[in-house]
Amino acid sequence: MEHIIENIKQIEARITVACERAGRAREEVKLLLATKTVTPERIKVAFAAGYTLIAENKVQELKEKYEALSDVPHTNHFIGHLQTNKVKEILRYGVSCVESVDRLDLAQKLQQRLATEDKHLDVLLQVNTSAEESKYGVAPDKALDLARAVAQCDRLHIKGLMTIGLFSAEEEKVRVCFQLLRRLQGEIAALGLPGVVMEELSMGMSGDLEIAIEEGATIVRVGTAIFGKRVYPDSYYWKESRE
Ligand SMILES: *Cc1c(COP(=O)(O)O)cnc(C)c1O
Repeated sequence: MEHIIENIKQIEARITVACERAGRAREEVKLLLATKTVTPERIKVAFAAGYTLIAENKVQELKEKYEALSDVPHTNHFIGHLQTNKVKEILRYGVSCVESVDRLDLAQKLQQRLATEDKHLDVLLQVNTSAEESKYGVAPDKALDLARAVAQCDRLHIKGLMTIGLFSAEEEKVRVCFQLLRRLQGEIAALGLPGVVMEELSMGMSGDLEIAIEEGATIVRVGTAIFGKRVYPDSYYWKESRE
């Protein structure tokens, strides 16, 4: 358990150094804890240290942890592939932002359900900047069209973009993904769509958060570097076949 606190301190230090190097204020970057496979007990260690922005990848896990986490105020994002038939549930378990909206039918299902419940929801559009088959997200050349279409859904508030960068030891290839996301942010902002606020860039994980911060990330999503290695490979979370 002490490891969690120690690890958060190290991530804090990495974020601080990256912000300094990029000439940005530390407050411009939020640390989101990617809590897939992490037990409520361990998540609460991070809460106690003041880190209360978390995100799950699976509706099932969100559901399982909901009760146990409900006594501590926190903010829940959703960062996994969301099936349209799970839309109802996601709204039931207190998610305030779905970062992984990557197709119109999902946006429309959310819109319908939100209208029924008379609710609103923040969303980010997920872009597949690495062009890897294994990753979800709208293709970069379709991102503007998706933004235009999702902007028609008045129950959804588009707050920005999310991506998973290329997994590569070659820094420049990773950087290109993040630069692409930032460029799309500017292009979508320039469309001046009603109700669309392009303020968030959710990018950067345990291995590449410095590059992401240099390229403008406002949310970095960190799991492994805080909670340790996961038992399941990420493909379990990122591939359709395992749904
Ligand atoms: C698991 C996950 C993360 C965190 O990845 P780590 O490498 O463990 O820091 C970030 N974003 C998404 C979408 C994830 O599924």
